[in-house]
Amino acid sequence: MAKNGHFDDACAEVLRINQRRHDKIKQLPSFWMQAVKPIPQIAAEDDYDPPPPAPSTIPGPIIQASTASPAKFFRGMTAHYFFLGSADKQWSATDGVGNTILHLAAFAESPDAIDWILKRPCGTGLLHKRNNNGDTPLEALQFKLEKKRTRQLLQSSIVACSDQFESYDHTAVQCLLKLQGLKDPSWNEMRRLEGGCTCGECVDGCLSPRMRLVLENEAESIYLKLRCGLASMSGTTYFEENKNLLTFLSDYCKKIIKHNKSVRCGLVSLSQHVNASLCCGLLPDEDNIMYGLRPSRR
Ligand SMILES: [Zn+2]
Ligand SMILES: [Zn+2]
Repeated sequence: MAKNGHFDDACAEVLRINQRRHDKIKQLPSFWMQAVKPIPQIAAEDDYDPPPPAPSTIPGPIIQASTASPAKFFRGMTAHYFFLGSADKQWSATDGVGNTILHLAAFAESPDAIDWILKRPCGTGLLHKRNNNGDTPLEALQFKLEKKRTRQLLQSSIVACSDQFESYDHTAVQCLLKLQGLKDPSWNEMRRLEGGCTCGECVDGCLSPRMRLVLENEAESIYLKLRCGLASMSGTTYFEENKNLLTFLSDYCKKIIKHNKSVRCGLVSLSQHVNASLCCGLLPDEDNIMYGLRPSRR
């Protein structure tokens, strides 16, 4: 009995809390309520359902090799497809989830295999075939690489790791080049492929237009902040005023900023050139900043 009594009390408390929540929601400003839109309903026939898994028409060993070893995949694939006529149905064969042989070559990250397929009479037609996810071979590879770039499986949890990303490896980039049909890529196109850019506008393959704008605004406000008070403040006051912008400098740098006015002027000039690099659409790295600081450019 006592136990049930406690249980009832707890239920009553939960109900009271829910009621209070409910009342609070009713008091929310009307624009908040308007923001809570009803979930749109999609008619069953308009909803995309991926086709059900179909039996694979590509030989099993070739499919297995595509995730195991690029070299084995290349050997098995060429041996199987070499003697096929261009009208042979095997060219449009798929695995259970709609991947063509070119999708598998992309997953295997084998530039040789991609090259070989694309040189067959019906190879280029495969570039536009979509798998059950709706991806062409190029999109499927980009998706695979993007996952590798951003997520890491640690035991049973997925960890975000894009901040450790340096660049895609050479073979992956070669595969992207071939699937995009880029024979003579420019320097910037190469950086973008290596950096995992899919927008086609990133500076040096890593600085997107949106990020550049944010950094440019930030660099300008840092420059203006560092410039203000340069003439009027004492070294110690100047340092104290701007301390939060200088946290990453070494103790030695902090000391000379406090004691030497020409160092403070140099600091302002440096921040101006970081800002200028970003304004010109250049990566604010050492080369670009030093180029801006060269006397000949003044
Ligand atoms: Zn991009
Ligand atoms: Zn968002």
